[in-house]
Amino acid sequence: MDSTPLDRRRFLQLAGSLPLLGTIPAAADEVTSIYGIRLWPAPDHTRVVLDLDRGVDYKLTKSGSPGKIILKMSQTQPILSLDAMVKDDPRLKSVKTWFANGGADFVVEFVLLKGVEARSFLLPPNENYGHRLVLDLHNIEQKRTQPPSAVRQQRKLTIAIDAGHGGEDPGAVGYKGAKEKRIVLSVARRLEKLIKREPRMRAVMVRKGDYYVSLGGRVRKARRSHADLLISIHADGFKKRSAHGASVFVLSNKRASSEMARWMARRENRADRIGGVDKVRESSSFAYALRDMERSANQKVGLELAEIVLGELKKIGDLHGNRVHKASFAILKAPDFPSMLVETGFITNPREEKKLRTAAYQQKLAGAMMKAVRQFAQRYPVVESAPLSSRAASRPSTAKVNVYRVRKGDTLSSIARKSGVSLSSLRRLNPGLGDMLSIGQKLRIN
Ligand SMILES: [Zn+2]
Repeated sequence: MDSTPLDRRRFLQLAGSLPLLGTIPAAADEVTSIYGIRLWPAPDHTRVVLDLDRGVDYKLTKSGSPGKIILKMSQTQPILSLDAMVKDDPRLKSVKTWFANGGADFVVEFVLLKGVEARSFLLPPNENYGHRLVLDLHNIEQKRTQPPSAVRQQRKLTIAIDAGHGGEDPGAVGYKGAKEKRIVLSVARRLEKLIKREPRMRAVMVRKGDYYVSLGGRVRKARRSHADLLISIHADGFKKRSAHGASVFVLSNKRASSEMARWMARRENRADRIGGVDKVRESSSFAYALRDMERSANQKVGLELAEIVLGELKKIGDLHGNRVHKASFAILKAPDFPSMLVETGFITNPREEKKLRTAAYQQKLAGAMMKAVRQFAQRYPVVESAPLSSRAASRPSTAKVNVYRVRKGDTLSSIARKSGVSLSSLRRLNPGLGDMLSIGQKLRIN
């Protein structure tokens, strides 16, 4: 089911008990062993993960020649070969390793392909992994040329589909070994197909393969693609094997609606610790102002749609409780658009695990979510706006300015949807726009 990136990945995890290769320094108890390596190619970066049996002092430096980077790890010994694992990666040309400092230090030289830069960070142990050293090889971002804002194409209703977990983070693992990350990607792809059949809709896959996207990165991707709705898909586990049934969650700013909802949110929110987040990169770019009015309007719509999904899920299987659950999920915290999280079932329940693995049930799940998407499109349609000619765009002074007059119950996002512009363009066109709209207020929409 998984796409080619998975085939390119080599999984060379070895048991930690293998004997050390090469020279063994005298103070063996102070030596860090590299006992596993994983590569996760994503569309914009490749993540290289080294499993270590303890912390390590390391340095990542650029060498004189272009594209060459040197990773030097003090007092380190690999117990597997690193050289063989990087064939065919879209960003790595070659890897060479050697020992330095009388055999005490281990050096890895990576030759990167053109237009790739490296960042590294350490991850502390958690319930899934021990110490990890992560190397992220990013495509250097090209400066995007913004299309002239006046030339608007027909806007389509955009649904961001977020398949939970991925890459380093397998999500929950079933009794028979099914991984949540695989099942939810498969359901997400089925939903994508259904959306693509609709001429007025567009699906944006937050992750397209087996790699990890941070929770912040997921929200950013949805915002960048001007999502009108976000659906996050999961299939979680619980400590009790008897727990079963599908459920739908929306964001709660206050208390979780039940102990289980709180537990689920806690579990989902820890994904970054397992999947691995480059904190330096994250903190520089993940920040947005809270807009209360916007948020509560979108939460209301999210709840409406979640109820529709829940009703549909009831027709195809068991539910875990008869109501939409509420809890503080990080993935649902963007105030710009309505969102929901669908737990398709408990992968830790043997009967549900079996069902979740079948194409037929996955299709039914996608169908249930699609019902809500269609309702959303009907209730909150994107109004077609006549595209302006590029001539008009180059002479904005002669282009006709369209104005929207605020009505009762309007919010910025409902106006954006109705007028066929994105929320960000609406803000750009109306500088100084506050959070409070007043009835009769005029807003530029082109
Ligand atoms: Zn999950």
